[in-house]
Amino acid sequence: MNTRKIAILGGGESGVGAALLAKKLDYEVFLSDFGTIKENYKYELKTNAIPYEEKQHTLEKIAEATEVIKSPGIPEHTSIIRALKERGIPVISEIEFASRHTIANIIGITGSNGKTTTTTLTYHLLKTAGFSVGMGGNVGRSFARNITEQTREYYVLELSSFQLDGIVDFRPDVAILLNITPDHLDRYDYKMKNYIDSKFRIAMNQSNKDLFIFNSDDENMKRQVAGVKSQKVPVRSNQNLNKGFLKVGDSDFDMSQCSLKGSHNYFNATCAILAAKSVGVSDEAIQKGLNTFQSVPHRLELVATINGVDYINDSKATNVDSVFYALKAMDKPVIWIAGGTDKGNDYEPILGLVEEKVKALICLGVNNQKMIETFSPMLKIIEETKSAIEAVERAKIYAEDGEVILLSPACASFDLFKNYEDRGDLFKEAVINIK
Ligand code: ADP
Repeated sequence: MNTRKIAILGGGESGVGAALLAKKLDYEVFLSDFGTIKENYKYELKTNAIPYEEKQHTLEKIAEATEVIKSPGIPEHTSIIRALKERGIPVISEIEFASRHTIANIIGITGSNGKTTTTTLTYHLLKTAGFSVGMGGNVGRSFARNITEQTREYYVLELSSFQLDGIVDFRPDVAILLNITPDHLDRYDYKMKNYIDSKFRIAMNQSNKDLFIFNSDDENMKRQVAGVKSQKVPVRSNQNLNKGFLKVGDSDFDMSQCSLKGSHNYFNATCAILAAKSVGVSDEAIQKGLNTFQSVPHRLELVATINGVDYINDSKATNVDSVFYALKAMDKPVIWIAGGTDKGNDYEPILGLVEEKVKALICLGVNNQKMIETFSPMLKIIEETKSAIEAVERAKIYAEDGEVILLSPACASFDLFKNYEDRGDLFKEAVINIK
Protein backbone atom coordinates (compact mmCIF):
# COMPACT_ATOMS: atom_id res chain seq x y z
CA MET A 1 0.00 0.00 0.00
CA ASN A 2 1.25 3.42 -1.01
CA THR A 3 0.98 5.82 1.90
CA ARG A 4 2.08 8.95 0.08
CA LYS A 5 -0.51 11.68 0.16
CA ILE A 6 -1.38 13.91 -2.74
CA ALA A 7 -3.59 16.98 -2.51
CA ILE A 8 -5.07 18.53 -5.60
CA LEU A 9 -6.19 22.13 -5.91
CA GLY A 10 -8.92 22.71 -8.46
CA GLY A 11 -11.70 20.36 -9.52
CA GLY A 12 -11.78 20.97 -13.27
CA GLU A 13 -10.48 18.76 -16.07
CA SER A 14 -6.83 18.82 -15.03
CA GLY A 15 -7.51 18.48 -11.28
CA VAL A 16 -9.92 15.60 -11.69
CA GLY A 17 -7.61 13.96 -14.25
CA ALA A 18 -4.73 14.20 -11.75
CA ALA A 19 -6.97 12.80 -8.99
CA LEU A 20 -7.93 9.79 -11.12
CA LEU A 21 -4.31 9.07 -11.99
CA ALA A 22 -3.14 9.47 -8.39
CA LYS A 23 -5.90 7.14 -7.20
CA LYS A 24 -4.97 4.55 -9.81
CA LEU A 25 -1.36 4.77 -8.62
CA ASP A 26 -2.56 4.07 -5.07
CA TYR A 27 -1.89 7.48 -3.56
CA GLU A 28 -4.09 8.79 -0.80
CA VAL A 29 -5.82 11.65 -2.61
CA PHE A 30 -7.71 14.73 -1.46
CA LEU A 31 -9.12 17.32 -3.88
CA SER A 32 -10.04 20.85 -2.87
CA ASP A 33 -11.74 23.55 -4.94
CA PHE A 34 -12.40 27.09 -3.74
CA GLY A 35 -15.35 27.38 -6.12
CA THR A 36 -18.03 24.87 -7.02
CA ILE A 37 -17.19 21.64 -8.82
CA LYS A 38 -19.23 20.67 -11.89
CA GLU A 39 -21.69 17.81 -11.37
CA ASN A 40 -20.01 15.47 -13.85
CA TYR A 41 -16.67 15.86 -12.07
CA LYS A 42 -18.24 15.36 -8.65
CA TYR A 43 -19.81 12.19 -9.95
CA GLU A 44 -16.41 10.93 -11.12
CA LEU A 45 -14.81 11.75 -7.77
CA LYS A 46 -17.56 9.99 -5.85
CA THR A 47 -17.58 6.85 -8.00
CA ASN A 48 -13.81 6.60 -7.61
CA ALA A 49 -14.00 7.11 -3.84
CA ILE A 50 -11.89 10.27 -3.95
CA PRO A 51 -12.63 12.64 -1.04
CA TYR A 52 -13.10 16.29 -1.96
CA GLU A 53 -14.27 19.66 -0.67
CA GLU A 54 -15.69 22.65 -2.54
CA LYS A 55 -16.22 26.37 -1.84
CA GLN A 56 -13.22 26.29 0.52
CA HIS A 57 -9.59 25.29 0.98
CA THR A 58 -8.93 23.63 4.33
CA LEU A 59 -5.23 24.34 4.72
CA GLU A 60 -4.60 21.82 7.49
CA LYS A 61 -6.04 18.99 5.42
CA ILE A 62 -4.25 20.04 2.23
CA ALA A 63 -0.96 20.51 4.06
CA GLU A 64 -0.97 16.84 5.11
CA ALA A 65 0.09 16.04 1.56
CA THR A 66 3.69 15.33 0.59
CA GLU A 67 3.04 17.02 -2.76
CA VAL A 68 0.33 19.31 -4.09
CA ILE A 69 -0.90 19.42 -7.68
CA LYS A 70 -2.23 22.82 -8.68
CA SER A 71 -4.66 23.44 -11.53
CA PRO A 72 -3.40 25.95 -14.10
CA GLY A 73 -6.21 28.40 -13.35
CA ILE A 74 -4.94 29.10 -9.82
CA PRO A 75 -2.38 31.95 -9.72
CA GLU A 76 0.92 31.49 -7.83
CA HIS A 77 0.26 34.42 -5.52
CA THR A 78 -2.97 33.11 -3.95
CA SER A 79 -2.82 32.70 -0.19
CA ILE A 80 -3.20 28.92 -0.26
CA ILE A 81 -0.21 28.47 -2.60
CA ARG A 82 1.90 30.86 -0.53
CA ALA A 83 0.96 29.02 2.68
CA LEU A 84 1.93 25.66 1.18
CA LYS A 85 5.23 26.96 -0.11
CA GLU A 86 6.02 28.48 3.28
CA ARG A 87 5.64 25.00 4.74
CA GLY A 88 8.02 23.63 2.13
CA ILE A 89 5.41 21.50 0.37
CA PRO A 90 6.18 21.17 -3.33
CA VAL A 91 3.48 22.47 -5.67
CA ILE A 92 3.55 21.09 -9.20
CA SER A 93 1.29 21.06 -12.25
CA GLU A 94 -0.78 18.16 -13.48
CA ILE A 95 1.46 18.00 -16.58
CA GLU A 96 4.51 17.39 -14.36
CA PHE A 97 2.71 14.73 -12.35
CA ALA A 98 1.37 12.90 -15.41
CA SER A 99 4.70 12.98 -17.22
CA ARG A 100 6.34 11.02 -14.39
CA HIS A 101 4.04 8.11 -15.08
CA THR A 102 4.48 7.52 -18.79
CA ILE A 103 7.37 6.54 -21.01
CA ALA A 104 5.57 7.75 -24.12
CA ASN A 105 7.14 10.17 -26.59
CA ILE A 106 5.79 13.65 -26.11
CA ILE A 107 5.20 16.42 -28.62
CA GLY A 108 4.47 19.58 -26.61
CA ILE A 109 3.01 22.68 -28.24
CA THR A 110 2.81 26.18 -26.82
CA GLY A 111 2.51 29.79 -28.02
CA SER A 112 0.12 32.71 -27.67
CA ASN A 113 -1.94 31.85 -30.77
CA GLY A 114 -2.47 28.70 -32.83
CA LYS A 115 -1.92 26.08 -30.10
CA THR A 116 -5.19 24.20 -30.58
CA THR A 117 -4.95 24.23 -34.37
CA THR A 118 -1.36 22.94 -34.38
CA THR A 119 -2.03 20.37 -31.66
CA THR A 120 -5.09 18.89 -33.36
CA LEU A 121 -3.36 18.81 -36.74
CA THR A 122 -0.20 17.15 -35.35
CA TYR A 123 -2.38 14.57 -33.60
CA HIS A 124 -4.35 13.96 -36.79
CA LEU A 125 -1.18 13.46 -38.86
CA LEU A 126 0.14 10.81 -36.44
CA LYS A 127 -3.24 9.16 -36.11
CA THR A 128 -3.76 8.98 -39.88
CA ALA A 129 -0.34 7.35 -40.16
CA GLY A 130 -1.51 4.60 -37.80
CA PHE A 131 0.52 5.69 -34.74
CA SER A 132 -0.65 4.87 -31.23
CA VAL A 133 -1.29 8.47 -30.17
CA GLY A 134 -3.32 10.46 -27.66
CA MET A 135 -4.06 14.18 -27.50
CA GLY A 136 -4.67 16.39 -24.49
CA GLY A 137 -3.41 19.00 -22.08
CA ASN A 138 -5.02 22.37 -22.57
CA VAL A 139 -7.36 20.96 -25.21
CA GLY A 140 -9.90 18.19 -24.65
CA ARG A 141 -8.91 15.67 -21.99
CA SER A 142 -6.15 16.36 -19.50
CA PHE A 143 -2.80 14.61 -19.92
CA ALA A 144 -3.31 12.74 -16.61
CA ARG A 145 -6.70 11.44 -17.70
CA ASN A 146 -5.22 10.27 -21.01
CA ILE A 147 -2.57 8.28 -19.16
CA THR A 148 -5.06 6.84 -16.69
CA GLU A 149 -7.37 5.58 -19.40
CA GLN A 150 -5.00 4.21 -22.04
CA THR A 151 -1.34 3.57 -22.70
CA ARG A 152 -0.12 5.24 -25.88
CA GLU A 153 3.27 5.46 -27.54
CA TYR A 154 2.87 9.17 -28.35
CA TYR A 155 1.07 12.10 -26.79
CA VAL A 156 0.50 15.44 -28.47
CA LEU A 157 -0.04 18.06 -25.76
CA GLU A 158 -1.28 21.62 -25.95
CA LEU A 159 0.48 23.50 -23.16
CA SER A 160 -0.47 26.87 -21.74
CA SER A 161 2.06 29.06 -19.97
CA PHE A 162 0.25 28.34 -16.69
CA GLN A 163 0.77 24.62 -17.18
CA LEU A 164 4.44 25.18 -17.97
CA ASP A 165 4.88 27.28 -14.80
CA GLY A 166 4.35 24.17 -12.67
CA ILE A 167 6.77 21.79 -14.36
CA VAL A 168 10.01 20.53 -12.80
CA ASP A 169 11.37 17.66 -14.92
CA PHE A 170 8.81 17.53 -17.74
CA ARG A 171 10.71 17.15 -21.01
CA PRO A 172 8.98 16.93 -24.38
CA ASP A 173 10.89 15.02 -27.07
CA VAL A 174 9.62 17.56 -29.56
CA ALA A 175 8.68 21.09 -28.45
CA ILE A 176 6.93 23.64 -30.64
CA LEU A 177 6.93 27.32 -29.68
CA LEU A 178 4.64 29.11 -32.15
CA ASN A 179 4.76 32.77 -31.19
CA ILE A 180 4.80 35.07 -28.17
CA THR A 181 2.49 38.09 -28.11
CA PRO A 182 1.37 39.88 -24.94
CA ASP A 183 -1.26 37.81 -23.15
CA HIS A 184 -2.22 37.00 -19.55
CA LEU A 185 0.22 39.63 -18.32
CA ASP A 186 -1.87 40.04 -15.17
CA ARG A 187 -0.45 36.67 -14.09
CA TYR A 188 3.13 37.72 -14.85
CA ASP A 189 3.45 40.93 -12.80
CA TYR A 190 2.72 42.82 -16.04
CA LYS A 191 6.24 41.97 -17.23
CA MET A 192 6.61 40.60 -20.74
CA LYS A 193 9.96 39.05 -19.75
CA ASN A 194 8.21 36.81 -17.20
CA TYR A 195 5.68 35.64 -19.80
CA ILE A 196 8.47 34.89 -22.32
CA ASP A 197 10.40 32.96 -19.64
CA SER A 198 7.28 30.94 -18.94
CA LYS A 199 6.87 29.95 -22.60
CA PHE A 200 10.55 28.93 -22.86
CA ARG A 201 10.09 26.51 -19.97
CA ILE A 202 8.82 24.07 -22.60
CA ALA A 203 12.47 23.56 -23.63
CA MET A 204 14.21 23.93 -20.26
CA ASN A 205 14.74 20.19 -19.69
CA GLN A 206 15.44 19.28 -23.30
CA SER A 207 18.81 17.82 -24.31
CA ASN A 208 20.57 17.70 -27.65
CA LYS A 209 18.60 14.57 -28.55
CA ASP A 210 15.35 16.55 -28.52
CA LEU A 211 13.87 18.95 -31.04
CA PHE A 212 12.81 22.58 -30.64
CA ILE A 213 10.67 23.88 -33.50
CA PHE A 214 10.22 27.64 -33.23
CA ASN A 215 9.15 30.80 -35.03
CA SER A 216 12.39 32.38 -36.22
CA ASP A 217 10.68 35.71 -37.03
CA ASP A 218 9.28 36.28 -33.56
CA GLU A 219 11.03 39.27 -31.99
CA ASN A 220 10.08 38.16 -28.48
CA MET A 221 11.89 34.85 -28.94
CA LYS A 222 15.11 35.99 -30.55
CA ARG A 223 17.13 36.67 -27.44
CA GLN A 224 16.25 33.51 -25.57
CA VAL A 225 16.55 30.96 -28.38
CA ALA A 226 20.34 30.90 -27.96
CA GLY A 227 19.97 29.34 -24.52
CA VAL A 228 17.97 26.35 -25.79
CA LYS A 229 20.05 23.15 -25.65
CA SER A 230 18.03 20.95 -28.02
CA GLN A 231 18.27 20.75 -31.81
CA LYS A 232 16.74 23.94 -33.15
CA VAL A 233 14.43 23.88 -36.13
CA PRO A 234 13.63 27.46 -37.21
CA VAL A 235 10.42 28.12 -39.16
CA ARG A 236 9.68 31.41 -40.94
CA SER A 237 6.32 32.84 -39.83
CA ASN A 238 5.23 33.94 -43.27
CA GLN A 239 4.48 30.69 -45.07
CA ASN A 240 2.94 31.05 -48.50
CA LEU A 241 1.85 28.48 -51.02
CA ASN A 242 3.54 28.02 -54.35
CA LYS A 243 0.89 26.99 -56.91
CA GLY A 244 -1.16 25.48 -54.10
CA PHE A 245 1.80 23.59 -52.55
CA LEU A 246 3.44 24.09 -49.15
CA LYS A 247 7.19 23.45 -49.10
CA VAL A 248 8.52 21.86 -45.92
CA GLY A 249 12.20 20.90 -46.18
CA ASP A 250 12.58 18.97 -49.42
CA SER A 251 8.92 17.93 -49.59
CA ASP A 252 5.96 19.66 -51.22
CA PHE A 253 2.44 19.19 -49.87
CA ASP A 254 -0.72 19.86 -51.85
CA MET A 255 -2.94 22.09 -49.68
CA SER A 256 -5.88 22.31 -52.08
CA GLN A 257 -7.97 19.82 -50.10
CA CYS A 258 -6.83 20.96 -46.66
CA SER A 259 -9.38 22.93 -44.65
CA LEU A 260 -6.67 25.21 -43.19
CA LYS A 261 -6.33 28.54 -44.98
CA GLY A 262 -4.17 31.63 -44.50
CA SER A 263 -0.43 32.17 -44.00
CA HIS A 264 -0.73 31.79 -40.21
CA ASN A 265 -2.29 28.37 -40.70
CA TYR A 266 0.37 27.39 -43.24
CA PHE A 267 2.88 28.30 -40.55
CA ASN A 268 1.01 26.14 -38.01
CA ALA A 269 0.86 23.33 -40.59
CA THR A 270 4.61 23.59 -41.28
CA CYS A 271 5.35 23.16 -37.56
CA ALA A 272 2.96 20.19 -37.32
CA ILE A 273 4.46 18.56 -40.43
CA LEU A 274 8.03 18.98 -39.12
CA ALA A 275 7.00 17.38 -35.82
CA ALA A 276 5.28 14.50 -37.62
CA LYS A 277 8.27 13.94 -39.92
CA SER A 278 10.63 13.94 -36.95
CA VAL A 279 8.88 10.93 -35.41
CA GLY A 280 8.83 9.05 -38.70
CA VAL A 281 5.52 9.86 -40.39
CA SER A 282 5.94 9.47 -44.17
CA ASP A 283 5.21 12.29 -46.63
CA GLU A 284 2.47 10.14 -48.11
CA ALA A 285 0.71 9.74 -44.76
CA ILE A 286 1.14 13.47 -44.04
CA GLN A 287 -0.53 14.31 -47.35
CA LYS A 288 -3.41 11.97 -46.50
CA GLY A 289 -3.73 13.62 -43.07
CA LEU A 290 -3.74 17.12 -44.56
CA ASN A 291 -6.51 16.13 -46.98
CA THR A 292 -8.74 14.74 -44.25
CA PHE A 293 -8.10 17.23 -41.43
CA GLN A 294 -11.28 18.86 -40.15
CA SER A 295 -10.42 22.35 -38.99
CA VAL A 296 -11.12 23.07 -35.37
CA PRO A 297 -14.60 24.54 -34.76
CA HIS A 298 -14.81 28.33 -34.34
CA ARG A 299 -11.39 28.99 -35.96
CA LEU A 300 -11.86 30.10 -39.57
CA GLU A 301 -14.36 27.27 -39.93
CA LEU A 302 -16.12 27.13 -43.28
CA VAL A 303 -19.74 26.50 -42.31
CA ALA A 304 -21.35 26.45 -45.77
CA THR A 305 -21.29 28.00 -49.22
CA ILE A 306 -24.76 29.22 -50.15
CA ASN A 307 -25.49 30.92 -53.48
CA GLY A 308 -21.74 31.35 -53.97
CA VAL A 309 -21.25 33.05 -50.59
CA ASP A 310 -18.85 31.44 -48.08
CA TYR A 311 -19.99 31.61 -44.44
CA ILE A 312 -16.98 31.44 -42.10
CA ASN A 313 -17.12 31.08 -38.33
CA ASP A 314 -14.07 32.53 -36.53
CA SER A 315 -15.83 33.13 -33.21
CA LYS A 316 -12.63 32.22 -31.30
CA ALA A 317 -11.07 35.43 -32.68
CA THR A 318 -11.62 37.38 -29.47
CA ASN A 319 -8.76 39.83 -30.00
CA VAL A 320 -7.54 42.15 -32.75
CA ASP A 321 -4.47 40.01 -33.53
CA SER A 322 -6.65 37.03 -34.50
CA VAL A 323 -8.85 39.22 -36.73
CA PHE A 324 -5.69 40.52 -38.39
CA TYR A 325 -4.82 36.97 -39.48
CA ALA A 326 -8.41 36.14 -40.40
CA LEU A 327 -8.71 39.17 -42.71
CA LYS A 328 -5.27 38.51 -44.12
CA ALA A 329 -6.43 34.98 -45.04
CA MET A 330 -9.46 36.26 -46.99
CA ASP A 331 -9.05 36.45 -50.75
CA LYS A 332 -12.64 37.58 -51.49
CA PRO A 333 -14.60 40.70 -50.48
CA VAL A 334 -15.76 40.37 -46.87
CA ILE A 335 -19.00 41.14 -45.07
CA TRP A 336 -17.57 41.29 -41.58
CA ILE A 337 -19.60 40.43 -38.47
CA ALA A 338 -17.81 41.73 -35.37
CA GLY A 339 -18.24 43.21 -31.93
CA GLY A 340 -19.05 42.15 -28.38
CA THR A 341 -17.32 42.95 -25.11
CA ASP A 342 -14.36 45.21 -25.86
CA LYS A 343 -11.20 44.29 -23.90
CA GLY A 344 -9.51 47.62 -24.57
CA ASN A 345 -9.03 46.96 -28.28
CA ASP A 346 -6.65 48.99 -30.41
CA TYR A 347 -7.88 48.56 -33.99
CA GLU A 348 -4.89 50.32 -35.55
CA PRO A 349 -3.19 47.11 -36.84
CA ILE A 350 -6.25 46.12 -38.92
CA LEU A 351 -7.33 49.49 -40.36
CA GLY A 352 -5.52 48.85 -43.65
CA LEU A 353 -6.94 45.35 -44.04
CA VAL A 354 -10.47 46.53 -43.29
CA GLU A 355 -10.17 49.27 -45.88
CA GLU A 356 -8.80 46.83 -48.45
CA LYS A 357 -11.06 43.81 -47.90
CA VAL A 358 -14.23 44.69 -45.99
CA LYS A 359 -17.35 45.76 -47.85
CA ALA A 360 -19.72 46.02 -44.91
CA LEU A 361 -19.53 45.74 -41.12
CA ILE A 362 -22.37 44.11 -39.25
CA CYS A 363 -21.89 44.86 -35.55
CA LEU A 364 -23.01 42.13 -33.20
CA GLY A 365 -22.86 43.48 -29.68
CA VAL A 366 -24.65 45.49 -27.03
CA ASN A 367 -22.43 48.55 -27.32
CA ASN A 368 -20.95 49.08 -30.79
CA GLN A 369 -20.00 52.72 -30.48
CA LYS A 370 -16.23 52.24 -30.62
CA MET A 371 -16.38 50.02 -33.71
CA ILE A 372 -18.73 52.41 -35.48
CA GLU A 373 -16.51 55.41 -34.74
CA THR A 374 -13.34 53.58 -35.77
CA PHE A 375 -14.57 52.13 -39.04
CA SER A 376 -17.09 54.66 -40.35
CA PRO A 377 -14.39 56.72 -42.15
CA MET A 378 -13.61 53.73 -44.39
CA LEU A 379 -16.88 51.78 -44.60
CA LYS A 380 -20.10 52.93 -46.22
CA ILE A 381 -22.18 50.15 -44.74
CA ILE A 382 -22.26 49.63 -40.97
CA GLU A 383 -25.24 48.11 -39.23
CA GLU A 384 -26.02 47.09 -35.67
CA THR A 385 -27.59 43.77 -34.71
CA LYS A 386 -28.31 42.04 -31.42
CA SER A 387 -28.50 38.34 -32.31
CA ALA A 388 -26.67 35.83 -34.51
CA ILE A 389 -29.81 35.30 -36.64
CA GLU A 390 -30.24 39.01 -37.22
CA ALA A 391 -26.54 39.42 -38.05
CA VAL A 392 -26.64 36.62 -40.63
CA GLU A 393 -29.85 37.97 -42.17
CA ARG A 394 -28.46 41.47 -42.52
CA ALA A 395 -25.06 40.27 -43.80
CA LYS A 396 -26.80 38.13 -46.44
CA ILE A 397 -28.41 41.20 -47.96
CA TYR A 398 -25.01 42.68 -48.85
CA ALA A 399 -23.19 39.51 -49.89
CA GLU A 400 -22.93 38.69 -53.58
CA ASP A 401 -21.77 35.54 -55.36
CA GLY A 402 -18.00 35.13 -54.77
CA GLU A 403 -17.93 36.99 -51.45
CA VAL A 404 -17.50 35.95 -47.83
CA ILE A 405 -19.52 36.48 -44.67
CA LEU A 406 -16.99 36.28 -41.85
CA LEU A 407 -17.79 36.17 -38.15
CA SER A 408 -14.50 37.28 -36.57
CA PRO A 409 -15.52 39.42 -33.59
CA ALA A 410 -12.28 40.89 -32.14
CA CYS A 411 -14.17 40.97 -28.85
CA ALA A 412 -15.29 38.66 -26.07
CA SER A 413 -18.81 37.26 -26.32
CA PHE A 414 -20.22 37.74 -22.83
CA ASP A 415 -22.54 40.66 -23.62
CA LEU A 416 -24.90 38.56 -25.77
CA PHE A 417 -23.67 34.95 -25.48
CA LYS A 418 -22.54 32.43 -22.88
CA ASN A 419 -19.08 32.11 -24.44
CA TYR A 420 -17.38 32.10 -27.83
CA GLU A 421 -18.58 28.54 -28.57
CA ASP A 422 -22.19 29.59 -27.98
CA ARG A 423 -21.73 32.59 -30.30
CA GLY A 424 -20.19 30.38 -33.02
CA ASP A 425 -22.83 27.67 -32.64
CA LEU A 426 -25.70 30.17 -32.95
CA PHE A 427 -24.02 31.67 -36.02
CA LYS A 428 -23.72 28.22 -37.59
CA GLU A 429 -27.34 27.42 -36.75
CA ALA A 430 -28.48 30.65 -38.37
CA VAL A 431 -26.46 29.83 -41.49
CA ILE A 432 -27.75 26.29 -41.74
CA ASN A 433 -31.33 27.53 -41.42
CA ILE A 434 -30.87 29.74 -44.48
CA LYS A 435 -30.89 26.69 -46.71
P1 ADP B 1 -4.96 28.96 -29.20
O1 ADP B 1 -5.27 27.54 -28.85
O2 ADP B 1 -3.50 29.30 -28.99
O3 ADP B 1 -5.91 29.98 -28.63
P2 ADP B 1 -6.25 28.54 -31.79
O4 ADP B 1 -5.67 27.51 -32.70
O5 ADP B 1 -7.45 28.19 -31.02
O6 ADP B 1 -5.10 29.06 -30.81
O7 ADP B 1 -6.53 29.87 -32.63
C1 ADP B 1 -7.02 31.04 -31.98
C2 ADP B 1 -7.11 32.22 -32.91
O8 ADP B 1 -5.78 32.62 -33.28
C3 ADP B 1 -7.85 31.91 -34.21
O9 ADP B 1 -8.84 32.89 -34.40
C4 ADP B 1 -6.81 31.92 -35.29
O10 ADP B 1 -7.30 32.54 -36.46
C5 ADP B 1 -5.62 32.69 -34.69
N1 ADP B 1 -4.35 32.01 -35.02
C6 ADP B 1 -4.15 30.68 -35.26
N2 ADP B 1 -2.86 30.41 -35.53
C7 ADP B 1 -2.19 31.58 -35.44
C8 ADP B 1 -0.80 31.96 -35.60
N3 ADP B 1 0.15 31.06 -35.90
N4 ADP B 1 -0.51 33.26 -35.43
C9 ADP B 1 -1.46 34.17 -35.11
N5 ADP B 1 -2.78 33.89 -34.97
C10 ADP B 1 -3.14 32.61 -35.12
